[in-house]
Amino acid sequence: QMPGSSGTTQSMKKTIGHRGVETTTGETTYKKTTSSALKGAIQLGITHTVGSLSQKAERDVLMQDFVVVESIFFPSEGSNLTPAHHYSDFRFKTYAPIAFRYFRELFGIRPDDYLYSLCNEPLIELSNPGASGSLFYVSSDDEFIIKTVQHKEAEFLQKLLPGYFMNINQNKRTLLPKFYGLYCVQAGGKNIRIVVMNNLLPRIIPMHLKYDLKGSTYKRRASPKEREKAVPIHKDLDFIQDLPDGLLLEADNYNALCKTIQRDCLLLQSFKIMDYSLLMGIHNMDQANRERSGGNLGDSGGSEGAVTPDQRRPQAQKSLYCTAMESIQGEARGKGVLDSEDHMGGIPSRNTKGERLLIYIGIIDILQSYRFIKKLEHSWKALVHDGDTVSVHRPGFYADRFQQFMCNTVFKKIPHVLN
Ligand code: ATP
Repeated sequence: QMPGSSGTTQSMKKTIGHRGVETTTGETTYKKTTSSALKGAIQLGITHTVGSLSQKAERDVLMQDFVVVESIFFPSEGSNLTPAHHYSDFRFKTYAPIAFRYFRELFGIRPDDYLYSLCNEPLIELSNPGASGSLFYVSSDDEFIIKTVQHKEAEFLQKLLPGYFMNINQNKRTLLPKFYGLYCVQAGGKNIRIVVMNNLLPRIIPMHLKYDLKGSTYKRRASPKEREKAVPIHKDLDFIQDLPDGLLLEADNYNALCKTIQRDCLLLQSFKIMDYSLLMGIHNMDQANRERSGGNLGDSGGSEGAVTPDQRRPQAQKSLYCTAMESIQGEARGKGVLDSEDHMGGIPSRNTKGERLLIYIGIIDILQSYRFIKKLEHSWKALVHDGDTVSVHRPGFYADRFQQFMCNTVFKKIPHVLN
């Protein structure tokens, strides 16, 4: 094990990257800051920055807006600009405020909705975080995900911003993550950087299966520890085993999906980005009906227990272009308008048993193109395993393989129309 990359294995304290657990309370920590203090600082900080932004006139985004960093100090006793609070003093930084304001507008997110979702309701810590030691929160209304990112990732996002958003501006048909904000909480001499993104897996829709797919077969099987969870995040080899015939899509949806993946991969390749994943949640409508009628409320992963999705549909997913279906169609449906056949934003599909499925997908983890020392060993082995030894070709190699896996192995076109 690499020093610093994981903590002691004794019962006293376990850490993964910067993520740890406080011994006395069992509370999650990040760089020794408790999760509750971090959530508090995020909510105070975003409240302040969105408020002060509303006083700035609307105008076009200029190139220099991408490098602006706003900073405000929050002493615990309060100041003439900031309220008193129960945490230690901290500083809150907002990166590219004007640019991100524009992006939020592009996705139909009004400042008061953004504030309400993130700051007025409790943030919920995700219990299924990744291996890299990031902390994840989801907003109570399912709209937003907050992820802690490393210094290098935040720096990379800053560099990426102009090109990334030039693309999003031209093309709303994309499965790439939508970044709505980049912030930094400075407390106790540590920097905790966070991004706000769209949530791909609404918690009110129980997912029966979840996958993180890359198109690689090297060490791409969920760990035994992961498998113990109620709804484990499975990987490529698990998919091939569980669903050897893939997921069946109607021709129109299949074509739209593959075109979108192709375009996204081309953009990622142009930025030399690799190691991204397709995150996928599968809601099995027939299984859900069986569970409901059979009174079998076995935990299918929805944290809401027996609540049926449709009962709460109108509150879900207010942002535009962000559901899986909108992402591949590039069209936002009118707010609050429910089409007769409401698929709750999922892409309708079938398994080979003929069961009706709803697919929730998006590309995640695109900021890690400069992985860190602890990951290097894995990368080199994977590289040799994949048989691609010319490193400059790797982004193209990765993109092609990703695309082929998704469009040939994972998703299949059904020749006839579903009824
Ligand atoms: P790793 O090192 O394992 O790749 P990571 O810390 O970089 O992990 P991600 O791979 O980005 O994290 O995500 C880890 C998990 O968090 C995902 O498997 C998924 O369950 C959840 N997650 C991440 N991004 C989103 C999102 N946008 N919407 C919903 N869930 C998400």
